[in-house]
Amino acid sequence: MVVALMDDLTRARLSARTLVAQGVGFHEPVTKGIVPPIHMTTTYLRDSDNGYRSGHVYGHTDNVSVQQAEQLIAALEGAEQALLFGSGMAAATSVILGLEKPTHIVASQVMYWGFRSWLRDVERYGHRVTFVDTSNLDAVREAVVPGRTGLLWIETPSNPTWTVTDIAAVAEIAHAADAILCVDSTVATPILTRPLALGADIVMHSATKYLNGHSDVIAGALACARETPLWRRVAKNRGQLGQALSPFDAWLLTRGMRTLDLRVRTQSKSALILATRLQTHPAVAAVLYPGLPTHPGHEVAMRQMSGGFGGMLSLRVAKGEKAAIAVAACVELWKRATSLGGVESLIEHRASIEGEGSPCPADLLRLSVGLEDVDELYFDLTRALTMAV
Ligand SMILES: *Cc1c(COP(=O)(O)O)cnc(C)c1O
Repeated sequence: MVVALMDDLTRARLSARTLVAQGVGFHEPVTKGIVPPIHMTTTYLRDSDNGYRSGHVYGHTDNVSVQQAEQLIAALEGAEQALLFGSGMAAATSVILGLEKPTHIVASQVMYWGFRSWLRDVERYGHRVTFVDTSNLDAVREAVVPGRTGLLWIETPSNPTWTVTDIAAVAEIAHAADAILCVDSTVATPILTRPLALGADIVMHSATKYLNGHSDVIAGALACARETPLWRRVAKNRGQLGQALSPFDAWLLTRGMRTLDLRVRTQSKSALILATRLQTHPAVAAVLYPGLPTHPGHEVAMRQMSGGFGGMLSLRVAKGEKAAIAVAACVELWKRATSLGGVESLIEHRASIEGEGSPCPADLLRLSVGLEDVDELYFDLTRALTMAV
């Protein structure tokens, strides 16, 4: 049994900040320890009458540490249910693998590279995909084929230009065509945006990023507005395809989420400061950040994000690709690494990792702002910009 101190009504009334700080109130029921233990067991005792009154049978689907993290995510997203997976990619691909019949999918042109690459070959599963600029609602309307389009997949703000898509407007387009809207909300986090409240059917997270926040767990999450046949297939597939998250990682994730609100707000604040200051730097051709009034998605971001615009921004280096790589080579505080959303700041020449065929501008540096002192981050970056160009 999953033991929570808060009932559904209490949870619905509480702010994200309180929910995460208390880890939804989970505790250890025997000793009353205020930190729940890690439930490592893979299997459960069957009762002598051959029943399973504990409700737990096997680790693929039944683990208390995993369920506790899922309940916290469900509470944060205002979801009926949440499911955890062994990675963000497992969570994302499981939605597609849960589609019952050949489906036309409309997806954001600019999105996380790994999933876009996988979707590009989705025909091998019998589906068809159209990539469009989902920040352009007319383009979305045009791409949707009523009776054929079953799924709209958007990422907002999306990698690595932080393009913003209007979730409520796209949900309306999807539902008018009887299609489902799934939102990759990894970058926004439930602290800044709640896609289900804006009309989305499923929200997806790479929990590897902000939810865990400490660069030490790979995990993925889905949360649904309501349980649908697609959701039930996704849940069943998780066990059958073996996509489960390990209990230890789930426990770390719950622990990481306790500071989610503080981390995301601080990272957003620092990112806005850096974006604003770097805008006028002579070595920088453009700063891409939805918090800047000059960003094409700013107006929509103002409407659908609250409490900040996230901790991710990108720079386009004025002197081009070589200079961008040189800047990344010159920083000391910022770590040269892929991934995002951790407590330490990362810098990445994005085109290098995306490789051939990437739509990412060659002069682009992606910055994941951590929790360090913002002046020290700024100094390190501007020193590198001056040295390298
Ligand atoms: C990292 C990431 C993913 C994939 O998640 P993994 O946990 O690395 O499998 C999906 N979407 C976005 C936006 C990401 O940043």
